[in-house]
Amino acid sequence: MRKFVIMGVQGSGKGTQSAMLASDFDLVHISVGEIFRWNVLQHTKVGAQVRRTMAAGELVGDDLVEGIVKDRLAQHDWNYGFIIDGFPRNERQAEFFLESYDIDGVIHLDMPDSEVRRRVLARRLCSGCGMDYNLLASTPEVPGKCDVCGGELVSREDDTEEALAVRLRDYHQKTNPVLDIFRRKEYVVTVDARPAKEAVQQAIRDQLGLPPHHPRAAEGAGQAAGTGRVAEGSARP
Ligand code: AMP
Repeated sequence: MRKFVIMGVQGSGKGTQSAMLASDFDLVHISVGEIFRWNVLQHTKVGAQVRRTMAAGELVGDDLVEGIVKDRLAQHDWNYGFIIDGFPRNERQAEFFLESYDIDGVIHLDMPDSEVRRRVLARRLCSGCGMDYNLLASTPEVPGKCDVCGGELVSREDDTEEALAVRLRDYHQKTNPVLDIFRRKEYVVTVDARPAKEAVQQAIRDQLGLPPHHPRAAEGAGQAAGTGRVAEGSARP
C-alpha cells in the first residue's frame, strides 16, 4: 500500500505526474479540484457552493474540503493506495490529514511563478468531455475543438491573470507552511517540475526509491504524434 500527497503550484504538472504514478502502481488518483469541477459541471449542491470561490481563484472553506476528502477516502476503493493532489492546502487541512491518515511521502513539484504563468494561461479544457490540453505542448487538429469528442475548448474559469495572481499569492502564503510541517516529518521530496514530464516522473521515482517508469506503447505513440494531452478524470466521485 502506497499513500502519497503531491503538492505544487497550479500548472506544475500535479495531474500529469499523479496520473503516471497512479496508472503504474494502481493507485487511486484523488484530485480535490477535479472533484469540485465535476460538481460544478453537474450543477450539484456542492458545485453551487464552490463555483464563485473557484472562479475567483480563492480557496474553498476547510469544512467543505475536509468533508469531500473524508467521503472520498471512506469509499476504500484504494486497495493499493492513493495519491492525493490539491490537498492539504493550508495548515489546518494538513493537521486534519495527519490526524486521520498516515502517508508514505509528499512529492513537491517546484516551479518558478514566471513558468507557472506561461503554462497556466495556455491551458484549455474540453467543455464536452473534460480532456485537458496545453497549447504550448500541442495544438488540436482543428483549432479550438477537442480531438476526442469535437467539443469546444475553453479556458478554465480560474485560469485568468487575475485569478492566477490570487492563487499564486495564496499558495505561497498558505501552502508553504504545509510543506514545512511535512518537512519536519521528513516526508518531502522536492523535484524540479520544469523538465519534460518523463524526466520529472523519473526524478520522483528516484527520490522515492520506486521502480523506473516505462512509458506504455500507446503513451509513446501519443507523444510521437505530439499530442501531449492528459486525461484527469480519475478523481470523479
Ligand atoms: P486545483 O485544480 O487544485 O487548482 O483546484 C481548483 C480550485 O479548487 C482551487 O482554486 C480552489 O478554489 C479549490 N480547491 C481545490 N483544493 C482545495 C483545497 N485543498 N482547499 C481549498 N480549496 C481547494
